[in-house]
Amino acid sequence: MPEAIEVEIYKKIAERASGQKVAGVVILDDNYLRGEGTEKYLKNEIIDKQVQQVRRHGKLLLLDFDSSTLGIRFGMTGRLVANGVPAIEALLYTTNLLDSKHERFVLHFANGLVLCVSDPRRFGNVEVNPDEKKLGPDAYTITSADLARVLTSSRATIKSQLLNQTKIAGIGNLLCDEILWRSGISPKKEAGLMSKKQVESLAKVIRNTIENLEERGGSHLGDLQKNRQKNGVCPIEKSALVRESVSGRTTWWCPAHQV
Ligand SMILES: [Zn+2]
Repeated sequence: MPEAIEVEIYKKIAERASGQKVAGVVILDDNYLRGEGTEKYLKNEIIDKQVQQVRRHGKLLLLDFDSSTLGIRFGMTGRLVANGVPAIEALLYTTNLLDSKHERFVLHFANGLVLCVSDPRRFGNVEVNPDEKKLGPDAYTITSADLARVLTSSRATIKSQLLNQTKIAGIGNLLCDEILWRSGISPKKEAGLMSKKQVESLAKVIRNTIENLEERGGSHLGDLQKNRQKNGVCPIEKSALVRESVSGRTTWWCPAHQV
């Protein structure tokens, strides 16, 4: 959290900045600035510059200026706040109270718009010209050919491949469990052992699940979600769900239909 869905919602809010000039930047947390640039460099690159385009790649929000791009990562608990209103009311696993002490990075625009990153646990960051080539294809538009390239001949588990942002960008833990549950695939299945047909159907489930959960309002609104707890059962055949660590992440899955 936030996963591609949340950042897509942030993007829609950030689009209000499109065509606007940056009037000021406030970095409230020194650790929030990543990459080569200093605060002076960042300010020099974007102050008085016009936002040409707002984009998203996986979990990365991107503001394109004429000669540089500002990337914003939201980590575990980051929310985008526009003029004091959060783009998303609630995230799991964090406080949802807006508190000025959680403000890390603020952009002021010439038309009065203020975009702020509020991030209680501070795992997010901002970077001038982030290396987008390090990210795999975006999960929203993943094709079966993209997915086949990622999975074929991998000995890793399917879960670890889907979570690896350099392979596919945008899928986090909740979305991953929901996708695998909807696909009937065990999270521990060896990625390279997926059949061509399974890969094709998985690509479709990834796109459909993302579209479906974005409509509902977040990656925590999957069908499996309310059963991610003690005595949780599979909504399909009501058998007990298993909770275990797969690829270092807490995983809920149904051995009765996920093989
Ligand atoms: Zn089941």
